[in-house]
Amino acid sequence: MLFMKTGNLLNWYRANARTLPWRREPRNPYHVLVSEVMLQQTQVDRVVPRFESFIERFPTFEILARASEEEVLEEWSGLGYYRRARMLHSLANVIMERPGGLPRTASELLKLPGIGPYTAAAVASLAFAEAEPVLDGNVMRVGARVLALEVDTRSAEGRHRLEGWIRGLMDGGPPGQVNEALMELGATVCDPGRPGCDRCPLGSGCEAMMRGRQGDFPSPRRRRATESLRWVAACAVTADGEWLVRRVDEGPILRGLWLPPLLEIEEGADPAKAVLRLLPIGTMSSPELGDNVRHNITHRKIDVTPVRVDADRIEPPSDAWRWVDPKNPGLPTSSLFAKLVGAV
Ligand code: SF4
Repeated sequence: MLFMKTGNLLNWYRANARTLPWRREPRNPYHVLVSEVMLQQTQVDRVVPRFESFIERFPTFEILARASEEEVLEEWSGLGYYRRARMLHSLANVIMERPGGLPRTASELLKLPGIGPYTAAAVASLAFAEAEPVLDGNVMRVGARVLALEVDTRSAEGRHRLEGWIRGLMDGGPPGQVNEALMELGATVCDPGRPGCDRCPLGSGCEAMMRGRQGDFPSPRRRRATESLRWVAACAVTADGEWLVRRVDEGPILRGLWLPPLLEIEEGADPAKAVLRLLPIGTMSSPELGDNVRHNITHRKIDVTPVRVDADRIEPPSDAWRWVDPKNPGLPTSSLFAKLVGAV
């Protein structure tokens, strides 16, 4: 019976899969790894052009390993979650030094720095045909509905049940295709709010659909609380429109990126006063407040007040500071920079 379901699923996948650059056959393990890392926190539509540009600039592990971290972060600019870029870069170095290069099994891949169970299973199954279930959010939703899973899909029991179901499907077809078909089904048919059950290849065996309870699965889980922060940004600008930026060397977010200096301030604090403490150069005008901008990073909602001052292009005090053209900074930065430029 499960074999029949695998057949339905794979036939559906072959007829309906989107054409994506990392799915070209034969599968290139480097492409699989880069795409899986990019897709972890970014939508497919945004990833496609960035993947192609990344692969064009760094076509192999070897070329990626030889690049500087700054070059890799620059290529990643705007994609967010920059620890992913740093992880890929250091991973490329580890792989170049490792006899045998990239491991072929999930258990060996898991030993590499930065590779978690999800990425290990994706690379091992998609690139090397190992029977390892991949549990991304889309697959969890499909599985939770098919099984009418009452437990949290992220709990040990939930994962165990989902993996067992996927392994059963893998008995009837190539593991990489089963994983990819489930991911595709979750992304394009088994929508969180409006599942397309009438065109679903798993419909005949889906418990949630048969009970008319698709909306009840997956079971709700507790969300991490969102933290609200208030920052001030010191926007020192020359008469030629160049901005003074500083490399972020500390803290859990934005590290390694170049931005106007930023400071967290208390509610009620005067942003204009705070700014003057941030700048290592004298200013030519009084601070002027721009429009607040909103920047979200993981579970943080940050309101940033840009404060503009006119400045002369004097030499900054260290290598951690640079003058840049904001339209073409030529350094790794965050989309926050463009927001600040538009707000002053
Ligand atoms: S039948 Fe409906 S709810 Fe069940 S897996 Fe398919 S799309 Fe999702």
